[in-house]
Amino acid sequence: MQDFINDALIIETLQRAKDPEKARVREIIEKSRELRGLSPDEVATLLQTEDQELVQEILSTARFIKREIYGNRLVLFAPLYISNYCSNNCLYCGFRIDNRELERRALTMEEIADEVRTLEREGHKRLLMLCGENQARSSLDYFIEAIETAYATTTEKGGEIRRINVEIAPQSVEDFRRLKAARIGTYVLFQETYHHATYREMHPSGPKADFLWRLTAQDRAMQGGIDDVGIGALFGLYDYKYEVLGLIFHAMHLDSTYGVGPHTISVPRLEPALNAPAAITPPHPVSDDEFRKLVAVIRLAVPYTGMILSTREPAALRSEIFDLGISQISAGSRTNPGGYRQGDSDAFRAAQFNLGDTRTLDEVIYDITTHGHIPSFCTACYRLGRVGEDFMDMAKPGLIQKFCRTNAILTFKEYLQDYASDKTKIAGEELIERLLKETRGKKTKQLLETRLKKIEEGEHDLYI
Ligand code: SAM
Ligand code: SF4
Repeated sequence: MQDFINDALIIETLQRAKDPEKARVREIIEKSRELRGLSPDEVATLLQTEDQELVQEILSTARFIKREIYGNRLVLFAPLYISNYCSNNCLYCGFRIDNRELERRALTMEEIADEVRTLEREGHKRLLMLCGENQARSSLDYFIEAIETAYATTTEKGGEIRRINVEIAPQSVEDFRRLKAARIGTYVLFQETYHHATYREMHPSGPKADFLWRLTAQDRAMQGGIDDVGIGALFGLYDYKYEVLGLIFHAMHLDSTYGVGPHTISVPRLEPALNAPAAITPPHPVSDDEFRKLVAVIRLAVPYTGMILSTREPAALRSEIFDLGISQISAGSRTNPGGYRQGDSDAFRAAQFNLGDTRTLDEVIYDITTHGHIPSFCTACYRLGRVGEDFMDMAKPGLIQKFCRTNAILTFKEYLQDYASDKTKIAGEELIERLLKETRGKKTKQLLETRLKKIEEGEHDLYI
């Protein structure tokens, strides 16, 4: 496969867009309100906008687009790290092979089931399963067995995992077929940096040193039948403007080749990690202001692609960034294998990186509820086959709102009923009451009321 990332073209595009005219920036902002996305030149112009008044206009347009397409829902998931053995040497990661101080662990199936039970008892329904890249200690067979174990692990009160997304090293088309058969949801992979020279520097050895094998992983996943793929860049390794354009070129490549762009874009920022030089001193640190701007620009550029924010970011900033276009968030996370059952003790010695937001799922839910967001554990589209191109066709005319809002309310109710603390339950019931009042269609309102009642009577897993 051809390398579709052209460093010189990205640099030239950014160069051309320097010091943009006010009127041109406003024209692009206006165009983005039509929700049809932006070209690389337009994205570069927004990225090169330093005028604070215009930056504020970009931010408020991102808030508008987020509300228009996604409403105020936030889908919640938990990452599940099953092994931290790794043959790669990524200079920013605590799992790198040269980190001799890391306590290495590959969870047994029983330990994985224990982790899953802990997460289910907190109320999680969606997982992102991850591991380091290591043939001997975390092979694909092992990983698939872990997926099967997690799906098969259930707890009282309808506790079950309904969707498992995965984030593992690039696979062959054949192996992606096996992952598809294991009923994974989205295949997520971050390119880390789209800048070839920085990529080489950050990945000195191991299979991950191959830029092109990684860049084309989503292609092979789609060829292997996986409908939804996620992309991402690790912000802090290279110039953030360059990385945003890299993401846009990647999205355009998938869209033009397969008729559907990425399902999600992740925007991780570098966090400190044990014995990881590039994480301790990021080569291109991204400030909070730059981070706000880049999230907003991505929202304007690819309005229908979900955006994921992890617990890497501190709580206060996370709340603010949600409104700029985030549709999925992790909560209550641990990045050390076995971290959920064992709690916080000595976590850093086995963790991939430090977390900025260490609150529990219930605390996060209380917080987002009181800020007017609807927490969602919905997995309906994936289970009803509304994926890939079908999902995008449906999302584009705004149907996402109709289905997703209802399913968010139903899954949130189930959470409140089964797992919430008293304080969260009160805040949550108030929010649901208000949302019911705001529901316009008579039929939708009736359907919601009937199903909410059924959930109160103990039914689970209701969705449309
Ligand atoms: N080992 C696989 C890989 O590298 O793609 C699977 C997932 S790895 C456990 C998940 C992601 O964590 C990496 O793609 C990287 O972007 C991110 N990561 C690694 N070190 C990090 C750090 N110090 N701060 C923030 N994110 C980090
Ligand atoms: Fe291994 Fe992934 Fe960490 Fe790199 S980022 S050292 S591949 S776990």
